[in-house]
Amino acid sequence: MKPAPFDYVVAASSDEAVRYLGEVEDKTAKIIAGGQSLVPLLALRLARPSLLVDINRIPGLATIERLSKTSVRIGALVSHRMLCEQMAFPLLSEAASWIGHEAIRTRGTIGGSLAHSDPAAELPVVAVAVGMVVEVISPLSRRTIGAEDLFVGTLENSLADDEMIVAVEARLPEHWAFAEYARRHGDFGLVTVAAAEVDGKIRIALGGVGNKPLRALESEALVNDANPLDDRLAEKAARAAASAVTPNGDFHGSASYRGGLVEELVGRVLRQLASSRQSASESRS
Ligand SMILES: Cc1cc2nc3c(=O)[nH]c(=O)nc-3n(C[C@H](O)[C@H](O)[C@H](O)COP(=O)(O)OP(=O)(O)OC[C@H]3O[C@@H](n4cnc5c(N)ncnc54)[C@H](O)[C@@H]3O)c2cc1C
Repeated sequence: MKPAPFDYVVAASSDEAVRYLGEVEDKTAKIIAGGQSLVPLLALRLARPSLLVDINRIPGLATIERLSKTSVRIGALVSHRMLCEQMAFPLLSEAASWIGHEAIRTRGTIGGSLAHSDPAAELPVVAVAVGMVVEVISPLSRRTIGAEDLFVGTLENSLADDEMIVAVEARLPEHWAFAEYARRHGDFGLVTVAAAEVDGKIRIALGGVGNKPLRALESEALVNDANPLDDRLAEKAARAAASAVTPNGDFHGSASYRGGLVEELVGRVLRQLASSRQSASESRS
């Protein structure tokens, strides 16, 4: 199938991009970044925007900036490939390396992935695990949204029609771990888990088990209330995570299979995180 007809403009600045979005009366204008999710939707006519606003030539949106020793700002046009190659935020590098194939990672962007809000996508899971702050502009305002408030449901975000993500800011976790199970290399994960320790508190986020990334709050309470984080506690927290979710089954895997994956992968990331803590304490002493 071919896309329905649409107009196309290239924005020279973020302000111009959101002005274009705001000017379209039928409110169907869409930003195009890497096009790796939008173009298939256009081709299938699941999206029928009257205007596409291309943001790829806006200067300054494809940069990663170290704000301090412990925080970074990542522009909306930073590609998955750039995330793989950077060293400042190893959790993002690991997560991005699981996205699709090289061509997709070269074109796809962090802003596009977050805005697309696929519940099985890797970057939204990391965004929730580290508590990313998303910077958003519209023709008249600028605001920040916590990652957990950005994701509303499957392919649904909390952005207004004339809003655009310009960047995200995040604290760098002191310790982190990431695990995913996918049927084949490059497929979306059946279950994805990210754990991040920021200021001594561990946050755990799960992908693929609901209509948006979910925090494993019961597991977080267990691992943050008790010390040390040993194998037994990791197993207990993994069981708690699996009991708290109600994944849907599909032809890729039944609900109980996905529940089993949650238990396995949460246990795995917590053991990795414990080992990272251990190595750090040994190198200090
Ligand atoms: C074969 C294939 C396999 C894939 N596998 C994976 C995978 O394993 N994991 C994964 O996470 N993804 C996967 N993807 C999707 C890919 O990662 C996309 O790059 C990503 O979902 C969207 O980024 P994009 O820059 O391409 O966005 P686009 O496709 O350009 O846009 C996606 C949506 O976000 C909106 N948007 C884009 N940028 C902004 C912005 N700055 N502000 C507001 N709205 C914006 C657009 O209007 C559109 O609605 C796959 C895609 C393909 C084709």
